Amino acid sequence: MSEVLNVEEIFAKNVFTLGKMKERLPKNVFKEVKRVMEQGGELSLTSADVVAKAMKDWAVENGATHYTHWFQPLTGITAEKHDSFVSHPDEEGRMLMEFSGKELIKGEPDASSFPSGGLRATFEARGYTAWDITSPAFLKEAATGVILCIPTAFCSYKGEALDKKTPLLRSMEAISEQALRIVHLFGNTGATRVIPSVGAEQEYFLVDSEKALKRDDLIFAGRTLFGAPAPKGQELEDHYFGVIRERIGAYMKDLNEELWKLGVTAKTQHNEAAPAQHELAPIYETANIAVDHNQLIMETMKRVAGHHGMRCLLHEKPFAGVTGSGKHDNWSLTTDNGVNLLDPGDTPNENIQFLLVLACIMKAVDTHADLLRQSASDPGNDHRLGACEAPPAIISIFLGEQLEDVVKQLVETGEANNLIEGGTLQTGVSTLPDFQKDATDRNRTSPFAFTGNKFEFRMVGSSDSVASPNTTLNSIVAEAFCEAADVLEKADDFDMAVHDLIKEYMTKHQRIIFNGDGYSEEWVREAARRGLPNISSMVEAAGTITTDKAVKLFERFGIFTRAELESREEILYENYAKTINIEALTMIEMSSKQIIPAVVKYTKELADTVNSVKSAGADASVYESLLKDICAKLARMQKALEDLKEVENTATSMKEGKEQAYFYREKVMAAMEALRIPADELEMVVDKKVWPFPTYGDLLFEV
Ligand code: ADP
Ligand code: MG
Repeated sequence: MSEVLNVEEIFAKNVFTLGKMKERLPKNVFKEVKRVMEQGGELSLTSADVVAKAMKDWAVENGATHYTHWFQPLTGITAEKHDSFVSHPDEEGRMLMEFSGKELIKGEPDASSFPSGGLRATFEARGYTAWDITSPAFLKEAATGVILCIPTAFCSYKGEALDKKTPLLRSMEAISEQALRIVHLFGNTGATRVIPSVGAEQEYFLVDSEKALKRDDLIFAGRTLFGAPAPKGQELEDHYFGVIRERIGAYMKDLNEELWKLGVTAKTQHNEAAPAQHELAPIYETANIAVDHNQLIMETMKRVAGHHGMRCLLHEKPFAGVTGSGKHDNWSLTTDNGVNLLDPGDTPNENIQFLLVLACIMKAVDTHADLLRQSASDPGNDHRLGACEAPPAIISIFLGEQLEDVVKQLVETGEANNLIEGGTLQTGVSTLPDFQKDATDRNRTSPFAFTGNKFEFRMVGSSDSVASPNTTLNSIVAEAFCEAADVLEKADDFDMAVHDLIKEYMTKHQRIIFNGDGYSEEWVREAARRGLPNISSMVEAAGTITTDKAVKLFERFGIFTRAELESREEILYENYAKTINIEALTMIEMSSKQIIPAVVKYTKELADTVNSVKSAGADASVYESLLKDICAKLARMQKALEDLKEVENTATSMKEGKEQAYFYREKVMAAMEALRIPADELEMVVDKKVWPFPTYGDLLFEV
C-alpha cells in the first residue's frame, strides 16, 4: 500500500492564504487588506510593512530564502528575479532576514529585455511591478530552494501595461461596473461587484525525455518538424478516457500533489484523444487567480515531468496527423451575492435577466468575433484552428436545442412561450436508472459553446496564457452591457424596453448562432454567406486589435490605450516571425547535419550491395530500383532545402514588422512544408537503424 496522502492537510500549504493572514496579522491590518482586496485602493505603507513582515516570517519558517515579484510579460510565460531576504550585517556580523512593505508592494526590475513593442525606450529600461493583492502570495519549491512569489502586474514608468495581468485586471473592473448596472436594473441592489470566473482545462503531451532530447525540433521548437506517421494513430479511439498507464499515473499523482500545495484545485485528469495526450482541469475561480494558476499548472507540469524522466509538451501541435492540444476556457459571471448571470434556471424562456445577458453576449461576440479569434492566436495554434479537429477559425456560438429554440421564438414573435424539454433517456435496463436528459447537449465542434451555466471558449491554445482571451471576453461583454444599460436606465416602461432590446439584439445578431458541424466545408461556405469573419492565422488576426472599432472599445473602458494596442500588434508580428525563424533554422540544421548525412550513408551501403550482388552474378535490379528511388527523394529534399535557405535568408534580411511576419507566414512556412514531404518519405524507406532520431512511433507509443 502506498502512503496515505492527506489532501486536506497539504492543500494550500504553500500559499499565504487569507486564513494565514487572519492568524498572523493584527485585526485592523487584516481588515484593511480585506477591504483593499474587495474594494480596491491602496494599502497604507505602515500596514504594508506589517503584512510584509508576517509574510516573510511565514515564508522563512517554511524554508524560503528569497522572494520574487512574479509577473507575466508579453512573452506569454512568467518572469521572476529572485532577491534574498539577506540584509546588511551589523557591526558584529549578524544578519537579520528583512522584507519591507515597500518591497512587497512595488518592484523595479530592469525590464529592457522584455518585449514592449516600442513602448519603453531602452534609456528608460525600468519597468515597475505592483502587487496584485487579490492573488495570494505563494512559495515555490524548486532546485533553487524555496522562493516566496508575489503575483504582480508589470507597467512602464508612464503606467502603460507591459504585461498580461494589468489589462485583465482593468477588464475585470470594467465588466463588474457594467454588469452591476444590469443587475441593479433587475432589482438586485444588494450586489456590489460582478466577478468573472474562469476554469481552464489544460491539455498536454508527455514523451520520454531521453528520446525527446535526441530531437532538435522538440528541443528548439517544442514540436516535431519532421516525422512520418506511425502505423497506428488515434483511429481506434482507444486512448481517450483509457486506463492511465503506470508511468503516467505516477506523474499525475505527483503533479496533483504539487498543485494542491500551491492552492490549485486540480480536479479532473484523463487521457485525451491522441496517444500520449492527457488533460487536467482545476475548479473554476476568479479570473485573475485562474490565469495565475493556469501559469502555475503549465510550469508545474513541465517541472514534474523532469522528475519522471519525461518531457511535457504544451505546444498546440507537437505531432502532425494526431489531435493537437488546446485549453478550454470556461467563463461565467457571478454577483458577490451569489447570482450566476449565466444560469438560465429551469425556465430560461421566463428568465428575462438571463435572456438579456444572453442577447448582450450574442451581440458582443458577433460584433467582435475578430477580436475573440485574435485573443486565442499564437503561432502554434495556427496548426490547430481550422484543421478539422479543434474548433474552426470561424467564431460562432452554440446554444443547444432548447435555447436556440427560445431565441428563434423571440426573434419571430417577440415571445417565448414554449420550452423544449430535455425528456428522459431510457437505458433499457431495469436495474439502471433513467436519466433526465440535459437540454443543452454537447457540440465539440463549436468554438464558443453554452454549457449549462457558463460559456466554454474552446479556441485557446494549450501553451498560451488565458489572460488575453478573458480580457477580450470581459471587454466586449462590458461594452454590450453598457449599451444595454444606457437604453434601459432611461426607459419609462422597463419591462417593455427590455423586451424590445432582447428582440432587437437577438434579431440583429442571430447569424452568430450555429448548432451544426463546425468542421464541415459546408459551414465555411455558410459562414461566408452570413458575413462572419474567417481569419486563418495569427498574422492575419494581429491587425484586428488596432482597428477603429477595437481602439474605441478598449479605450472607452480604459483597458488599452491606442499606443498599448499598437505596441502589442508589433509584438505579435515579431513573436510570429521569431518563432517561425527558429523552426526554419532547426529544419535546415536537422536536414543538413542529420537526415541527409544518414541517407547518404545508407545509399552507400545500398550501392555497395548492388555491386557485390552484381559481381556475384545475381540479379541486382531490386536493389537498384530501391537505390534509385531513395536518390530521387534525396534530390528533391536537397532542392527543397536550398529553397528554404533562400527564403529564410530573404526573411531575416527584412525589417521586423507586419510585412516580415506575412513573408514568414506565406513563403517560409510553405518552404518548410515542402521540405518536410521528401524527408518524411525518406524516413519511410530508409533503414530505421540509420535514422538519426526517434520516430513518431517511438515517441507516441513508448512512453
Ligand atoms: P468538460 O471536459 O466536460 O467540459 P471538465 O470538468 O474537464 O469538463 O472542465 C470543466 C471546467 O469548467 C472546470 O474547470 C470547471 O471548474 C469549470 N466550470 C464549471 N462551472 C463553471 C462556471 N460556472 N464558471 C466557470 N467555469 C466553470
Ligand atoms: Mg474536459
